[in-house]
Order: sequence, then C-alpha cells, then structure tokens
Amino acid sequence: MRKPIIAGNWKMNKTIGETQAFFNAFTDALTQRFSNKPETMKQAGFPELILSPSYISLYTLVNQAKSWTTLQIAIAAQNMSAYSHGAYTGEVSALMLQDIGVNTVILGHSERRQYFNESDDAVAEKTLFAFEQGIVPIVCVGETLEERESGNTDQVVIRQINAVLSAVAAKADLNHPDKLCNLVIAYEPVWAIGTGKVCDAAEANRVCALIRSQFDSGVAERLRILYGGSVKASNADELFAQPDIDGALVGGASLEADSFIAIVSAAFQQEPVVA
Ligand code: PEP
Repeated sequence: MRKPIIAGNWKMNKTIGETQAFFNAFTDALTQRFSNKPETMKQAGFPELILSPSYISLYTLVNQAKSWTTLQIAIAAQNMSAYSHGAYTGEVSALMLQDIGVNTVILGHSERRQYFNESDDAVAEKTLFAFEQGIVPIVCVGETLEERESGNTDQVVIRQINAVLSAVAAKADLNHPDKLCNLVIAYEPVWAIGTGKVCDAAEANRVCALIRSQFDSGVAERLRILYGGSVKASNADELFAQPDIDGALVGGASLEADSFIAIVSAAFQQEPVVA
C-alpha cells in the first residue's frame, strides 16, 4: 500500500504569527477529531502530512512541528536553488533548508514555471540537486487550459516528467528504484489551480496512471502521485478513491485548519473516529 500524502502549499500567504496560529488550530482540531483513538494517526493508512509555508516561516514551523509529538508533520519549502552556494542573490540553498530541518521541497509549481520562467530543464536540475542532497522533491507537472484544449495534455505531462527522468538517469547512483521511489509527483492541471474547477476524477486518474507508466515497474508501484487543483472536502472522496491518486497537493483549502482537516480525513481509508 502506498501511504497517502496530503500537502498544504500556502504560497505567499501567512505571516509567522499566522503560521503559528494555524499550527495550533490544526493540531488542536486533529487531536479533537481523533481524540477517542489518538493511535489512529499512527496507522499505515493515515496520510503523511506536509505543510509548506513561506521561507520566512519555515524555521518557526519546523520547531513547532517538532514539539508536537503526536504525529510527525513534515515541513516543506516551496522552492530551492539549483546551486549549492555562492553569488545567487535572493536564492535559498538545499544546505540552508536542511540546516533548519527542512527535508522536502516543492519544485516546478506552475506558478514558478509561469511567473518565474522556470523551464523543464531548470526544474529537472533542481530535482536532481535535491536528490543528491537527500531532500525529497515534490515535482509538479500539468498542462495549461490551452494545452488541454488543443489535445496536448499527455504530451506536455510526459515531456515534463521525462525532463526529470533523464536528468536523474544520467546519475548512476541516483538511478536506482530504492532512491527514485522517494520522488513525489503532483499532477496539477494549471487550469484547475485556484480556479474552483476541479479536474474530473477519472480523468485526473488517467493522467496520474500515464505519469506512473513513465517509470520502471520497481519505481512505479511505490511512487506517490498526488493530484492538485481546487481540492476541497466536497471533491476529495472521489479523487482519493481513484487507484492512481495517492493524495493531494492543496492550495486554498490548506489555509484554514477545518477545510484542511476535512481533506486529511477523506484521505484516511478508515472512517475517522469522531469525538
Ligand atoms: C496549488 O497551489 O498547488 C493548488 C493546487 O492550489 P488550489 O488547491 O488552490 O487549486
């Protein structure tokens, strides 16, 4: 069984104070929700939880998460430099992230591709570097509305995945199923992000299966592929029932504890124990 992942991408939202307040509300609500059976959260089917605040809040949130011992909540960066150190004004390195306890990074989000001109090669380079440093990359791929309407969804997604795969394949020490299976892919159709227009669950599953098929079987069966794009409580059940969708990357609905917990609960195979 692939352990589901529910990751919240806060984008450029929340100050440090708001981050702290969210974490307190989130963990209180989780405790409340599973209070009859706190060990539920330790079960294999309970999703792995990831929160991704701005760089400014990372350190605070890592420490807050460390002090909540009920469940491990991983803290991810929303981007990372492809370079190890040096004259790259405004950039943050893998070493700096690891130094504060951040071991997961979202790479190639469509907003980075769209507004900051990140190419497939740049995303591949960052993914390779993350792997080399032992940071788990969550690589986002997905087509724009124009690409979907012109029938190019599959071609675009395969191109984005192959850029990453060929960069990794060139490094013999990384190109091993036990390493590659740590990669996480998020299929995020660009037209569904922040628009309220969720991709039809069967179609999202079809594209996730297509992504899985690009990997050798030893990796494919273990690789976690998330769906992202207007996920909320009302559509989460249908999405998570799909065999090739292993969780979600959530934007808007991750900003409030209640809406995020509703998605976490939907990803959990068992009925949550209500207090
Ligand atoms: C995202 O930012 O990755 C995302 C999926 O956003 P939203 O859930 O708001 O569509």
